Amino acid sequence: MTELNQQTTYDDNNIFAKMLNGDIPYHKVYEDDKSLAFMDIMPQAEGHVLVIPKQKAVDLADLEPEYAAAVLMTSKKVMQAQRQVFEREGIIQMQLNGAQAGQTVFHYHIHLIPSSIHELGRHAAVMADQEQLANLAKQLAAVIDAE
Ligand code: 5GP
Repeated sequence: MTELNQQTTYDDNNIFAKMLNGDIPYHKVYEDDKSLAFMDIMPQAEGHVLVIPKQKAVDLADLEPEYAAAVLMTSKKVMQAQRQVFEREGIIQMQLNGAQAGQTVFHYHIHLIPSSIHELGRHAAVMADQEQLANLAKQLAAVIDAE
């Protein structure tokens, strides 16, 4: 088998672990006991949200069933809110497994991007304005809270 330059052990110091520990700030959209949704800091389109499990999972291979269910149900809430806020049906759901696939943060996460596969911006390339992210997070959270 070909040797892959792949991270398979969970690093407690990855950026999403630090968010879950409350060590670094983020713009929260939604949270429950098993999952967290927040704005992507380098969005591939306006309104790009990440959903993570509160489980130490590097990628899909590690994800436990109860956390898989939680991240999917949270993703569904977020996607429905994105449809309302951005007044568009098309929302990309994307998830990368392994550096070879382009994964850059090794804590499992689902990307939810109000865009089209034909228009998607570059991955993790351009920093968003923090005020704009805060405003979008507030709008999405308000729709979810109202459900
Ligand atoms: P991956 O390449 O692992 O699928 O995606 C990682 C995502 O995390 C990228 O879309 C990137 O923009 C986002 N990201 C990286 N660092 C941070 C950060 O510090 N805060 C937030 N909110 N997102 C981040």
